Amino acid sequence: MVTVDLLVLGAGPAGVGAAYRASAASRSVTVIERSGGVGGASASFEVGGQRVDLGSHRLHPSTDPDILEHIQVVLAGGLQRRPRNGRIRLAGRWIAFPLRISDLLTHLPLGFGARAALDASTRFRRSAQQDTFAELLRAGLGSTMCERFYFPYARKLWGLEPEEISGEQARRRVAASSPGKMLMRLLPGRGSGPAFFYYPREGFGAIAESLARAAMDAGADFRLGVSAKRVELRNDSVAVELDSGEIVEGARLWSTVPVTALARLAIPAAPDEVLEAATSLEFRSMVLVYLVLDVDRYTEFDAHYLPEPYTPVTRISEPKNYRDGDDPPGRTVLCAEVPCSFGDAMWAATDDELARVVVEGLADSGSPPVIPSSVTTKRLRQAYPVYRVGFERSYEIVDRWATEQPRLLTFGRQGLFVHDNSHHAYAMAWAAADALRPNGEFDSGAWRSARERFSRHVVED
Ligand SMILES: Cc1cc2nc3c(=O)[nH]c(=O)nc-3n(C[C@H](O)[C@H](O)[C@H](O)COP(=O)(O)OP(=O)(O)OC[C@H]3O[C@@H](n4cnc5c(N)ncnc54)[C@H](O)[C@@H]3O)c2cc1C
Repeated sequence: MVTVDLLVLGAGPAGVGAAYRASAASRSVTVIERSGGVGGASASFEVGGQRVDLGSHRLHPSTDPDILEHIQVVLAGGLQRRPRNGRIRLAGRWIAFPLRISDLLTHLPLGFGARAALDASTRFRRSAQQDTFAELLRAGLGSTMCERFYFPYARKLWGLEPEEISGEQARRRVAASSPGKMLMRLLPGRGSGPAFFYYPREGFGAIAESLARAAMDAGADFRLGVSAKRVELRNDSVAVELDSGEIVEGARLWSTVPVTALARLAIPAAPDEVLEAATSLEFRSMVLVYLVLDVDRYTEFDAHYLPEPYTPVTRISEPKNYRDGDDPPGRTVLCAEVPCSFGDAMWAATDDELARVVVEGLADSGSPPVIPSSVTTKRLRQAYPVYRVGFERSYEIVDRWATEQPRLLTFGRQGLFVHDNSHHAYAMAWAAADALRPNGEFDSGAWRSARERFSRHVVED
């Protein structure tokens, strides 16, 4: 039996970040990770001789400066600052993404811009009657932007009608949720977000890999390829039974796995009310389709956003265009994101069927034809939490149970049931480690303040 100061469940950004910070502060740490590598949803791997990510991943410039500095240090100069160069299909036209007002005016059909401007000028006449995604955005932006952009995109991403989605979704995910905010993001020099991003030369997963290496150098033990089967939550310690049968003990457990799954693993068993609430919380899944093309580059764009309903694909990225790296010439890879529900037809489709969906989606969007030389797929079962109307009540029940466990902390995207970016997950890890005092006590007040801050995170695309 192994006993450490800190057991960490999951080696995505939240788990790796926690191990990095806590081991640097001389804590003994064991990380338990189900997959064979670190990085979670932010991992990288190889397809066609190139490093690719699990969908388009960028490190956003709003990353906390201290965290950014640590990332720069562990990557030893490998973090590149890159200009954003995406495009979005709107009203049957391609326009630059992040959006710029000049492109909107020159590239969108005249009627579209005029109707959106009229919607903005009549904002004062509208107010949301219910706290739903549909009502909040319709009241904020008017029907033109909603019906042509946000609602079709939301149907594809979440598999729900906009009226079935909680208003919290709009607050967390839509940074430009009013004409004023949208205008601010469209003004010259601002775009709908900063015009650059950070990206490691060796793929996005290099961030988590380098932090994990630094944590190991400081003594952290990473157990990869093993799952937590049971989690015993005691008053003064915790024990995790692995699927290998081994039991690992620690003074504290920091879990970054889905809090819904954690509730089911717990001993003593969580109350029925908690288990029922956990069962009612849903995750959206995603199939990632990688097409290898025997051409040097497909286009100069890093990502193509496809909000319109003619294809189930929401975004296609070309990893080679995210970095100035050592990618082989004469070959490139496209990564298509296809949201779906676990077990549905898209989830169960064969590689060839999925490749056809992507090829047709590109053809229907007027993009250059593609002839893939091979196809690889990956599946993310828990890609995004689903904010169905009323989810807040269920989440509150599960979160209260988790908060009441004296030696447990749950955080990260899955641990707090949020859509957050990786820089938010790292910020949570930093805050958790900072709240662990040198005498081993945990500063619950500091953590409550940190949770307050996390609730103001807005997801960046
Ligand atoms: C398509 C897509 C695009 C994205 N784009 C961006 C982007 O551009 N920029 C950005 O910053 N973020 C982006 N994100 C978000 C980013 O991926 C997440 O914020 C980040 O990975 C969250 O880190 P985490 O550690 O909280 O969770 P995760 O990365 O989900 O890690 C959780 C880990 O727990 C492990 N685990 C689960 N159950 C068990 C168990 N029982 N036992 C042991 N281990 C277990 C999992 O295998 C996983 O490794 C994107 C996400 C998606 C899906």
